[in-house]
Amino acid sequence: MLLIELDRQIGDGDHGANMDKGFTAAVAKLEAGAETVQDVLKVVAQTLMSTVGGAAGPLYGTAFLRASKALGDDTEVDAAGVAALIGGALEGIVARGKATTGEKTMVDAWTPALAAAQAVAEAGGSATEALYAASKAALEGAEATIPMQATKGRASYLGERSIGHQDPGATSTAYLLAAAADASGIA
Ligand code: ADP
Ligand code: MG
Repeated sequence: MLLIELDRQIGDGDHGANMDKGFTAAVAKLEAGAETVQDVLKVVAQTLMSTVGGAAGPLYGTAFLRASKALGDDTEVDAAGVAALIGGALEGIVARGKATTGEKTMVDAWTPALAAAQAVAEAGGSATEALYAASKAALEGAEATIPMQATKGRASYLGERSIGHQDPGATSTAYLLAAAADASGIA
């Protein structure tokens, strides 16, 4: 799996397994029932926080919790809702991890994803279009982490040796948004 390989290069190789474990547990919890988008995001947040170790568990957990709150009481999520949700996720990640762009973390994927979703919302596009644009921007953001030197998280221990590798967390962010886009197209 790509995430495991990427995390093996500049981390400890657990990121793919961490994500797999967390989201498998979240799907199982959701099968027990969640009514609204806010509920779904909250259940995912709680499950990630309690089942995923490492840096990514608390970071993604906070991201999903803030995303849920950012939606307010809206029951239908449009492109502006997608932008609000991604904005909430990014705020949560920054509040917890204190990283800014250019530090070779998932912030380098969520930041362009937010801009892309906002652009679609302003142009009057749909929620699915906003999610696809966000996932594409996140993937480009993840690829742009290759020449960066990591200054946060485990990869920062490598110093200059972190250069030349794609950040696993930024990559999983792109996958997550792509999965959300695919799922929203079906609904
Ligand atoms: P660990 O590093 O504890 O093994 P994971 O492998 O699950 O945790 O996740 C690593 C990912 O977490 C990195 O690729 C990076 O994107 C993200 N990350 C690490 N520290 C931070 C931080 N302070 N802010 C934002 N993202 C971070
Ligand atoms: Mg790791």
